[in-house]
Amino acid sequence: MRMISVIGTGYVGLVTGTCLADMGNTITCIDIDADKIAKLQRGECPIYEPGLNDLLTRNIEAERLAFTTDYAEGLRDAEIIFIAVNTPTTADGSADMRFVRAAAQSIAEHLDHDAIIVNKSTMPVGSGDLVTEIIGRHLAHADVQFAVVANPEFLAQGTAVADFQRPDRVVLGSADREAAGRVAELYLPLRAPIMMTDLYTAEMIKYASNAFLATKISFINEMARICERMGADIKEVAAGMGYDHRIGKYHLEAGVGFGGSCFGKDVTALAHMANESGLHPQMLNAVLEINHDQRAAIVEKVATLLGSLRGVTIGVLGLAFKPNTDDMRDAPAIDIIHALTAQGAQVQAYDPVARETGRAAIGEHHVTYCTDAYAAATGADALIIVTHWNEFKALSPTKLKDVMRRAIIVDGRNIYAPEAMAKAGFIYRGVGRGGAPLTSDASDGSVPSRMKPPMQARLLRRRADRPHSRPRAR
Ligand code: NAD
Repeated sequence: MRMISVIGTGYVGLVTGTCLADMGNTITCIDIDADKIAKLQRGECPIYEPGLNDLLTRNIEAERLAFTTDYAEGLRDAEIIFIAVNTPTTADGSADMRFVRAAAQSIAEHLDHDAIIVNKSTMPVGSGDLVTEIIGRHLAHADVQFAVVANPEFLAQGTAVADFQRPDRVVLGSADREAAGRVAELYLPLRAPIMMTDLYTAEMIKYASNAFLATKISFINEMARICERMGADIKEVAAGMGYDHRIGKYHLEAGVGFGGSCFGKDVTALAHMANESGLHPQMLNAVLEINHDQRAAIVEKVATLLGSLRGVTIGVLGLAFKPNTDDMRDAPAIDIIHALTAQGAQVQAYDPVARETGRAAIGEHHVTYCTDAYAAATGADALIIVTHWNEFKALSPTKLKDVMRRAIIVDGRNIYAPEAMAKAGFIYRGVGRGGAPLTSDASDGSVPSRMKPPMQARLLRRRADRPHSRPRAR
């Protein structure tokens, strides 16, 4: 059992504190948001994260988990202090370190015993030094000894509890090996590989990991655009690629692009770090550019199908940036809905859990928030799938078609089968689905029926045009 403090009770801090409590440690979580702390003290979970509510209740009842806004109380006897505050993007693209600086200063002003400070927030390379410097400068008790360890977090919202409890790896970076070792002991029960390295490398591992995942998404989205022109189906292309263990099957889902509080922010911050050090991060810039365009492309698809967006009604399914969260930070739905309404459309939106956070992020100008998916589709000229919640996969195409004014679906997450939608009478557009799965055997030498007519014609013409077409020598 260890006495631990966690500063910041957001998606990362609350999951970290609760899971560490569940491992038998005694945790006090500190936050400056008094409303959030009051809720937590009443045992209410302020965020939607599968499995978190039960863990929270269990550990509060077991008196292993407490919440406060008071640093003096929150840091009392803490052997390890996690900093898990937000590090959003500033106007120039750099990470906003205001909250980290404030947390470090508050630690220094209230710490009256030796402790290890763990940087759990995603912070630019060099932040370990910054936190060391701030705490050193503001220490109220000059004899207090402390060490700083970087321990970036890799959990994903929607699966945060499971990710924390079964991490692929734990990364610890510090100039003080003994301090890093003591933090490592905390994670031993998780039986995950523990990598010990220096501060800068640990900080960089987090940025490089997020940049790589974001790159996979932008890469597959670029492939999706090419597939659309070539008559290929990106879902099958991704599946075919994913069998290759060097590529892997994850994060190869074409769609409206990434959102959330991390990928965009972290790629932007990494690009900023590179720029600041005189580099030209071409790939990172392209990743962001492709992602930005992906949102606009969905709106363009709907506008093309309808001729114009003026005066039309569009149903939007999904507001949160991904399923199983109510988080709207940098959610693609925000840009998509704002672009639709700016072009004169009326939007009917639905999300299983992000209705209120969605309303707060998007506003109510030409947008109504519905209580179920069919209500959002009722009277709509087109339906857009923005978030791939499981419940959308189970909607009845017949019922949707019955309630919609026009049977048009733009599936920004490729959750439906094109041929099933076509069979149900919909005009269906996914992302990168230039072709539908084969419907007939092409062994007779004919061009497979999955190819769209223009592509078939082009290929056939090219074959016919070839002047000396003869079998190639092997
Ligand atoms: P969040 O905004 O949900 O939570 C941050 C919390 O910190 C808020 O409750 C805020 O009130 C509190 N806070 C701010 N300043 C404070 C201070 N001085 N003292 C006490 N509390 C303070 O943020 P989050 O999503 O949990 O992210 C936290 C960090 O973890 C970020 O650096 C983020 O990049 C990183 N991260 C996030 C995720 C994710 O999926 N959300 C995953 C991995 C890493």
